[in-house]
Amino acid sequence: MGKPIGSAEIICVGTELLLGDIVNTNATFLSRGLADLGIPLYRHTAVGDNPGRLSSALAEAFSRSDAVFLSGGLGPTCDDLTKETVAAFFGLPLRTDEHTAERIRSHFAGTHRLMTDNNLKQAMVPEGATVFDNDYGTAPALAVDKDGKLAVMLPGPPSELEPIWRDRIVPFLSARSDGIIVSHNVYLAGIGESAVEDRLRGLMVASENPTIAPYVQAGEVRLRVSARAADRETGDRLCFELIDRVKAGEVGPYVYGIDVGSAENALLSVLRERGMTLSCAESCTGGLIAKLITDVPGCSDVFAGGCVTYSNAAKISLLGVSPATLERFGAVSEQTAAEMARGARTALGTDVALATTGIAGPGGGTPEKPVGTVYIAVSRSSGETVEKLSLSPKRDRAFIRRIAATRVLELALRLIGGK
Ligand code: ATP
Ligand code: MG
Repeated sequence: MGKPIGSAEIICVGTELLLGDIVNTNATFLSRGLADLGIPLYRHTAVGDNPGRLSSALAEAFSRSDAVFLSGGLGPTCDDLTKETVAAFFGLPLRTDEHTAERIRSHFAGTHRLMTDNNLKQAMVPEGATVFDNDYGTAPALAVDKDGKLAVMLPGPPSELEPIWRDRIVPFLSARSDGIIVSHNVYLAGIGESAVEDRLRGLMVASENPTIAPYVQAGEVRLRVSARAADRETGDRLCFELIDRVKAGEVGPYVYGIDVGSAENALLSVLRERGMTLSCAESCTGGLIAKLITDVPGCSDVFAGGCVTYSNAAKISLLGVSPATLERFGAVSEQTAAEMARGARTALGTDVALATTGIAGPGGGTPEKPVGTVYIAVSRSSGETVEKLSLSPKRDRAFIRRIAATRVLELALRLIGGK
């Protein structure tokens, strides 16, 4: 068992990254993966397929950090130079790894593709390296651990890097560190990130193990609670002691679930538990709510369906919204949102219905109803609840639609009572 990694960096190799031809999703994926393991990550670097520049990036990274995670440049072609450069940095010769050579030979035999000599280049590994089989490609991942420095090399294609990370590298890193990192996520609705941070600052500063940090994604705020512990049971106990303090504190009323994954997941679970059904009526979200809900496998026992009613005529004919309401208050109004939700609940015969109507922009705003004005509604047998969102008109259409969908799911959760 080695000493825990005190600091890590990521180097992504590939000229395509610098030309803007591909998005560096490997950096994001590896950053999350390292955070999950509690390994402090301090820097990302992207370098082209150039041994000189890779070599200096590597030397620089190791002058600061214990571990460097590299992606790309492990393939068979002449621009794939990561392994050679790392081996040279450590002063290690490259040797053929017989197990990998055999794996590559049988891979080609299985695909009936012609194997060329450069394919066997992928079986060359720095002497003493740990070799991790690649179940989705030919180039193995490699780790060199020498003089207190760890270099982990991963294939560039995300379809290979991601499973190899999960199946082989995570167990390798967990085995060489003392203890494990256990994380749990607390989901909040109806409160912004800065308000959460403000109310939890004391707890965040005081908590070293577990740590607690807020994250925002697609308009959802979550708190990630992570504990370093000898085993999972102890880690869970430490996390849940802190989660209980969060729930008992000022942000407690906004917590709608622990480890629920998303508002749609949480809402479906709560409705399922209560034997209730759901439908929706969407104007400005154009089917996004239905998409989010139906992304969850097994949603069909709760979700009946939805109507995308963009025109006034569709709102009238499919949902029974009153022409007088539309005439008097407009399509983007509290009254229309309420009638849409009630209409969907009645038409689809569900216990709960969600509705959205708003101005997603970029055009269509007025001084009274600027872009970003959205009404979200939840209809239950006890009546309709409507909330108005005033999102920034500077936000783009996709953002406004995404936030509207998330907020109506969260509103339903608050009304029906998550946790
Ligand atoms: P190959 O055997 O496919 O050549 P490799 O390990 O040599 O794999 P690269 O040649 O650097 O990897 O990249 C192969 C492909 O993987 C790229 O064309 C790109 O589609 C994808 N890729 C590489 N690096 C990244 C990255 N950082 N983020 C997302 N995708 C990447
Ligand atoms: Mg390549």
